[in-house]
Amino acid sequence: MTAPATPVRLDRFMARANAAYYSGRDPFADFITAPEISQMFGELLGAWVAVTWQGMGAPTPFVLAEAGPGRGTLMADALRLLARVAPACYAAARVHMVETSPRLRDAQATALAPHADAVTPVWCDAVADLPPGPMILLANEFLDALPIRQFVRTAQGWDERSVVGEVFVTAPATDLPAGGPLATRDVPEGEVLETCEGALAIARQLGRRLAQGQGAALFIDYGYDGPGWGDTLQALRDGRPAWPLARPGMADLTAHVDFAALGAAARVGGCATWGSVTQGAFLSALGLFPRAAQLARNQSPEVARQVSEAAQRLAAPDRMGGLFRVMAMTPPGMTELAGFEGFAPIAPSPADMGKGG
Ligand code: SAH
Repeated sequence: MTAPATPVRLDRFMARANAAYYSGRDPFADFITAPEISQMFGELLGAWVAVTWQGMGAPTPFVLAEAGPGRGTLMADALRLLARVAPACYAAARVHMVETSPRLRDAQATALAPHADAVTPVWCDAVADLPPGPMILLANEFLDALPIRQFVRTAQGWDERSVVGEVFVTAPATDLPAGGPLATRDVPEGEVLETCEGALAIARQLGRRLAQGQGAALFIDYGYDGPGWGDTLQALRDGRPAWPLARPGMADLTAHVDFAALGAAARVGGCATWGSVTQGAFLSALGLFPRAAQLARNQSPEVARQVSEAAQRLAAPDRMGGLFRVMAMTPPGMTELAGFEGFAPIAPSPADMGKGG
């Protein structure tokens, strides 16, 4: 992909750059995600699926979906755990992968091949294309890859950022997104506010779906939860931070997830939301450290050290454990959800239609 010669709105630039990136390169050469750090991550999410499915009344069959599954490691680890400890849930799961990159679809098929006797995965392009019925959806580092718009607060209203060549240009915004954080957030003049319309649309749609049927959705991502603002667009190329507008398609472009806006959009749809909580709190509640101790037992000191280091990396507050946050969406009326012990859900707010953040 070449640099744009005339101004291209940032979200359109990011969509094209990431489509080129995910279909042309092995993203995992540039960054490492939680499921790639340790099998414990996918196993714990598998345990979350089993407990949540039981809480839903064990619907059989049900859709077990993952959005943005990358190499397929998380789902493969989750399914291995389910086959071992929750065979009824394993047998009931109809696995659906939301993935647009043909190259990553191939990698996911390979990762799930050990389950071929029991599991026939189905691929689709968007969360909205998932079949109806009871569903559990997982998404790790999916929303941060979706295109964002950046608005700059002015005395009069908002400017919007576009890309020309390798630089930003701003012009008064036309066609402001309806609802979302722009409508409600008190941002000082000169500051940037980001919106991710793709993420908000997914949240609203899941909110409507979960208001009417059985299910749960779990989003894990780098992000913030509060009335924040600021430019969080970043690029990783060859494993190192890079200027996000340089060499589009050669770097992974991400932005932090605005969990306050995400939750508000889901509740407008009619579901309840849980959290966000930190990844460290969530994984600890699911039993990360006992699982690490179990994996390290009877292993060499070197392997035991690696397992312990992986658990620290996933859960420590100054590492992924504090930087990543976890939010769940469920039908209203649920009183408990694994990983969110001690937290009450936030009730749906269809009356806030049009606000969403
Ligand atoms: N969840 C994985 C991978 C994260 S990378 C992990 O934790 O390792 C982001 C993933 O989202 C990739 O699989 C990428 O191809 C996919 N993706 C990015 N944009 C997408 C979109 N608009 N629709 C569907 N999938 C998308």
